[in-house]
Amino acid sequence: MSALILVIEDNATNLELMTYLLNAFGYTTVVARDGQTGVELAKERQPALILCDLAMPVLDGYGVAECIKRDPALRDIPLLAVTASAMVGDRDRVLSSGFDDYISKPIIPETFVAQVEAHLHPRRQGES
Ligand code: MN
Repeated sequence: MSALILVIEDNATNLELMTYLLNAFGYTTVVARDGQTGVELAKERQPALILCDLAMPVLDGYGVAECIKRDPALRDIPLLAVTASAMVGDRDRVLSSGFDDYISKPIIPETFVAQVEAHLHPRRQGES
């Protein structure tokens, strides 16, 4: 069974690239184009991992992290921020906001899935 990954991203090009890569490696994806829809989908689908852009309409990535991490049903799901490397100075803010890690844009196809899997596999092995 392939793990379900929720991708929350308002930029169509980035969203397409991430879902293409994840699907190519056998993962099932569900997508949201704004943070509020993303949180609702997380509750509904209980994904194995969440990838989340920071700058988004309705509810931004920081708001998503707050909702996910205060919900006992969701807070153990690995939550990775995906954002521009120009904002790398915000790394501390990202990690202190509840994100488990940070993947820089532009997305590098050769390493992206491995970065995701680094957070997916330990969790799967830890499950009974
Ligand atoms: Mn964005």
